[in-house]
Amino acid sequence: MIPAAFEYYRPKNMDGVLSILEEHGDDARVMAGGHSLIPMMKLRMADVPHLIDLQDVGGMSDIEITEDGIRIGALVTQADIIDHSGLAASAPILREAALQIADPQVRYMGTVGGNVANGDPGNDMPGLMQCLDAFFSIVGANGERDIPARDFYEAAYMTAREDEEVLTRVTIPLPKGGYAYEKQKRKIGDYATAAAAVQIVKDGGSCVSASIAMTNLSDTPVFSEAAGAALVGTTVDDAALSVAVAAMLDDIDPTEDNRGPIAFKIHVAGVILHRAIARAWSRA
Ligand SMILES: Cc1cc2nc3c(=O)[nH]c(=O)nc-3n(C[C@H](O)[C@H](O)[C@H](O)COP(=O)(O)OP(=O)(O)OC[C@H]3O[C@@H](n4cnc5c(N)ncnc54)[C@H](O)[C@@H]3O)c2cc1C
Repeated sequence: MIPAAFEYYRPKNMDGVLSILEEHGDDARVMAGGHSLIPMMKLRMADVPHLIDLQDVGGMSDIEITEDGIRIGALVTQADIIDHSGLAASAPILREAALQIADPQVRYMGTVGGNVANGDPGNDMPGLMQCLDAFFSIVGANGERDIPARDFYEAAYMTAREDEEVLTRVTIPLPKGGYAYEKQKRKIGDYATAAAAVQIVKDGGSCVSASIAMTNLSDTPVFSEAAGAALVGTTVDDAALSVAVAAMLDDIDPTEDNRGPIAFKIHVAGVILHRAIARAWSRA
């Protein structure tokens, strides 16, 4: 399908972006890789009279790793994440998750900023960022502010970012311990039927902290404190694993769609989470 007519802008800096957003309000939208927005415009599910391409805005394409954490510019692509040897060493869960997003063509274009800003419950990065306790830096006419990933998602396509603000960067504390990103999808290139991000720290044979989030099982990503708490102080044996999975299943709220009925999704969520916890524990 062909999208409705729109004005195309390609500003050279963030001031230019912000002034167009200011002028046109919610008639304007930024575009990063365009691999979520353009399909929605073609399907006439998004009406964007003023489209602002971010590709010429500098300072949003770097990955920095320091002792304080990892900073990923909003225009870093999924392919950049996969290819970055420093990230593979310091936060391998990012690479494991990025490799399960879509297909190589989409990953060359789709950005981290677009993936987390979009608010699509099917996107993999939001749940992952909640598991990793990331925060998002947002800039607008009133300056910059940081929002924790765990507070960012309000409903499907509704986030704490205002229409006139741009997400510039994701910051992640250096992950510790074992990790796993596990995803069930119908075929290569599909969004998750269920996906789980798990990070576990082990000390003296038992679990000292666990962080767990799931994707596409509610209208927002689901970070379950109860699921993580169920593992702490245990040896992540079968009993603890069952309690953690049950806690997460209490927190999700899937709906029926072409990926299956609710009961099926709950079943798949349980299997995927069980696998993810077991794998993260084996790596801890
Ligand atoms: C066939 C196909 C399969 C896919 N499968 C998956 C999948 O399995 N898992 C998955 O996670 N994703 C999947 N995607 C989505 C893909 O990863 C997207 O590219 C990504 O989610 C959005 O990134 P983008 O840079 O393309 O964003 P865009 O399409 O450019 O933008 C998406 C939305 O975010 C907003 N936005 C973009 N950047 C910013 C910013 N810096 N600040 C504020 N708002 C911003 C835009 O205004 C728009 O509303 C798939 C896409 C396709 C086409």
